[in-house]
Amino acid sequence: MAKTALITGITGQDGAYLAQHLLSHGYTVYGLLRRSASAEIIGERLRWLGILDDVKLIDGDLIDLSSCIRNLETARPDEIYNLAAQSFVATSFQQPLLTGAVTGLGAANMLEAMRIVCPKARFYQASSSEMFGKIQEQLQTERTPFYPRSPYAVAKLYAHWMTVNYRESFGMHASSGILFNHESPLRGIEFVTRKVTDGVARIKLGLARELRLGNLSATRDWGHARDYVQAMHLMLQQDTPDDYVIATNRTTSIRDFCQMAFSHVGLNWQDHVVTSADLLRPSEVDVLHGDASKAREAFGWVAKTSLEDMVAEMVEADLARHRARIAAPAPSQL
Ligand code: NDP
Ligand code: GDP
Repeated sequence: MAKTALITGITGQDGAYLAQHLLSHGYTVYGLLRRSASAEIIGERLRWLGILDDVKLIDGDLIDLSSCIRNLETARPDEIYNLAAQSFVATSFQQPLLTGAVTGLGAANMLEAMRIVCPKARFYQASSSEMFGKIQEQLQTERTPFYPRSPYAVAKLYAHWMTVNYRESFGMHASSGILFNHESPLRGIEFVTRKVTDGVARIKLGLARELRLGNLSATRDWGHARDYVQAMHLMLQQDTPDDYVIATNRTTSIRDFCQMAFSHVGLNWQDHVVTSADLLRPSEVDVLHGDASKAREAFGWVAKTSLEDMVAEMVEADLARHRARIAAPAPSQL
């Protein structure tokens, strides 16, 4: 029988790819949409994937428990994917309380709403490798102790343990995916990978000369969001809820990412990248490197897209966007 899913954060990178994936499996997909004064751009990622008209968007905000309850009453989902968050680490240092309210307590609101409305549904929590922070083991697994290094990571850790707690206390089918960084052409422009690929496109097309970045020595285990949303779905198809690390098992520095992206268009990154102390963080996560063996053994998930292919896809998408803007400047929406 066709299933129904509710995705919080459907307008974000992962929400859009997950909606596409679930629609391709015959799901009815509901998505939480928070009210915005800029409504015409909020569905941009869903539009980019050509699925804006295929999903059912319902009004709601994660920090409003009553709206979470009403949304579940409307959608009556078999599966709930809690992807909504204030998801940018740098912003969490400037807005720690908002980050705690949305990224931490927001998850508790969804769990509580589910307990009240549809306790038999299945729940996915978008946990993060940022919870490992100041890493306690070279290769991070589900058993590695956490050491969060930002208000974002602290909030995610609260949401993670609430998910475990609701599973253990109330027998709810609640799973947590500890996902390492994953990127795509739909990644927010403020994250380093997209900032770099957008910068490469601007510089190549003569729209900019330099790209300002912060710490180039940090390393991340970067995968493709399209692969990672499949892991979210697979987790909820398991008989028993559990926690899984999702990663590629390869870690790369920001410096090397720049080299790959600039060389894709025949440029030398060192001619264009400028470092700025303003972009350093109060506390940094130096290295993330994940081991997703448990997910591979449990349900056969492995990352399919190589970093090289993803960088090429992102640079090409940003070149296409900027070329389209040059050819036909967008009329004002106001
Ligand atoms: P995005 O930042 O692209 O998307 C976040 C989504 O949350 C948006 O749809 C946003 O809506 C929504 N949102 C924010 N605040 C609220 C609120 N108060 N009520 C309802 N919705 C809200 O994140 P990603 O898609 O990259 O990530 C998805 C999830 O996975 C996030 O929880 C993130 O923290 C987590 N994660 C991501 C990783 C990554 O590398 N991408 C790694 C590990 C975890 P709007 O469009 O209105 O802003
Ligand atoms: P995060 O892992 O969720 O914090 O993802 P980001 O893409 O925001 O940052 C990844 C790493 O890139 C962090 O170690 C940042 O300090 C580093 N970085 C270096 N320069 C920049 C920059 O200009 N913007 C961002 N967002 N990160 C940068």
